[in-house]
Amino acid sequence: MSETRKSRVLCDVDFDRDGRQTGFLRLFHSSHVSAYGFLPIPIVVLRNGEGPTALFVSGNHGDEYEGQLALCGLAQSLDPERIRGRVIILPTANYPAALAGNRVSPVDNLNLNRIFPGDPDGSVTEQIAYFISSELIPRADLVCDLHSGGSSLLYTPCSLTNHVADPDLFRRQIAALRAFGAPLGYVQGRAQGQGGNLTLGGVAERRGIVTLGTELGGAGAVSAEGLAIARRGVRNLLVHLGILPETEREPAEETRIYGLGGQDHFVYAPEGGVFEPLAEPGETVRAGQPAARIHTPETPWAPPAEAVFARDGFVLCKRQPGRTLRGDCLYVLGGAFTPSG
Ligand code: CA
Repeated sequence: MSETRKSRVLCDVDFDRDGRQTGFLRLFHSSHVSAYGFLPIPIVVLRNGEGPTALFVSGNHGDEYEGQLALCGLAQSLDPERIRGRVIILPTANYPAALAGNRVSPVDNLNLNRIFPGDPDGSVTEQIAYFISSELIPRADLVCDLHSGGSSLLYTPCSLTNHVADPDLFRRQIAALRAFGAPLGYVQGRAQGQGGNLTLGGVAERRGIVTLGTELGGAGAVSAEGLAIARRGVRNLLVHLGILPETEREPAEETRIYGLGGQDHFVYAPEGGVFEPLAEPGETVRAGQPAARIHTPETPWAPPAEAVFARDGFVLCKRQPGRTLRGDCLYVLGGAFTPSG
């Protein structure tokens, strides 16, 4: 259940000291170009006495930028004198991936958000996951992991949380989702791990911590709309927790919440080729409606393969690159949200 081994990562900041502290997690990594060096993963901690702790993470995937920018802004603008409790900010969680603008780490090719809780004796990305699991998440009352679609997906900006078995925790997750104030949100059946592993949010939920995330845009770029939602959302979450006073709450519209369940919410490429999208994020579609044509210019006499939507829904995201392989995800649909699951 808990991560009891000690992380090897050194930490510049003292989580129990009042005021603003900035520094690095020092993850020692010997390479061809740096024999004795460390990877400097920036961390910011603001604390003012006893109170709740919010943990904000971005750069879990290095090619998702709105969260990184929103958390830089939060780190610079928050006055520790104005808060009650503690805010921990980790803007470039997978630091080598963030520097490279890459989803996965260029050091070990691992996807940070598929290997939680990580391993203190593992590779670079496994050690990052383990530090977050063992040193950051256990200190938090709320965990917010800010994502976007990355290089291969484009989302209409939204917040998200997972269905959890504990009804009280689920009620508090939905309350936090609404407090964040994104115009759209969705609730997914369960956090996606890989194999027996968890996501960052999965570790937090396993500990009974209120956990939410976002998908703020994507296509490897910065969405101005998604960034504005993130900047407002992280501050409104601090108000929701009582870390910032009520006077700091920024008005937001009601969040329209969708549900995301089984495989019929996903459209995959039936063949390899060039993806012609027939719907865009933000559109409402019907079961049986054409979703995509996959063309093969290498055999120009062959007609395109067609993919259809398997259910009615709201287009949360679509694939971004034109070239696609059979099995690539082309669309994700939101459906009706039923609070009982
Ligand atoms: Ca992501």
